[in-house]
Amino acid sequence: MSKPWFLYLLRCADGTLYTGVTTDVDRRVREHNTGRGARYTRGRRPVWLVGAWHCADRAAAQRAEALLRHLPPAHKEMHALTALPFEGAPYCGPAPDRFCTRCGGPLQAVLLPNEGRPRQVCATCQRTHYRNAKPCAGMLVTRAGQLLLVRRSLAPFEGYWDIPGGFLEEGDLPQAGAVREVREETGLEVEPTRFFGFYLDRYTYEDDTSTTLNVYFLGQVVGGLEQAGDDAAALGWFSPGALPSRIAFDHARLVLADWARAQEAQR
Ligand SMILES: [Zn+2]
Repeated sequence: MSKPWFLYLLRCADGTLYTGVTTDVDRRVREHNTGRGARYTRGRRPVWLVGAWHCADRAAAQRAEALLRHLPPAHKEMHALTALPFEGAPYCGPAPDRFCTRCGGPLQAVLLPNEGRPRQVCATCQRTHYRNAKPCAGMLVTRAGQLLLVRRSLAPFEGYWDIPGGFLEEGDLPQAGAVREVREETGLEVEPTRFFGFYLDRYTYEDDTSTTLNVYFLGQVVGGLEQAGDDAAALGWFSPGALPSRIAFDHARLVLADWARAQEAQR
């Protein structure tokens, strides 16, 4: 089992991006966050992992880093957001778990035979830990051509506008979860009219980061009384050409851009 090398991309507290190479992404992020990572990140803490790519060896990781560093920021993030390979290196997600849930042993990223990407394997009991995205569902609710957004009252992204939605409960189908989340956040009864799309993202809360698989539906209001609730501080209806600039979650910006483009195409 050879030691993998990674190219990683961080977002700094001032919104700028930082790239580096390492054999241990999780440890490296902790080093940056304790001021031992790099001069650039020391004054821009905290930093968050945007994405990492698994490279064949150190030289390949350094070559990929040189190329990634010169891309415009939006292009850098796009590779992570869409989980695209970079220079042939497969995307391997945000910060992995650190400890085995079976025995508490430390997890290591290793390349197993016949697997195209590194897996987390417990150094103590050898169990392989497979990672999956957490499912979330949301709805693009429109009325007279305007889209319903909610302003978040809680971290992460407090004060930013968001598409109503949230994590699915165990046993939820995405449609039912989306309808419930819209009801809790806006007071409105809605029904899905059409499937819209799947979007990957990451959700960081305190020191825990998960990949999320976000399922979106188009929907319409069928009842209820409009009132901000749950983790929403305010509601707003927006035209495709006048969407707010402070949008929570990277993937929601993509969803809104896709929605606005679809509206344009229909006109
Ligand atoms: Zn274990």
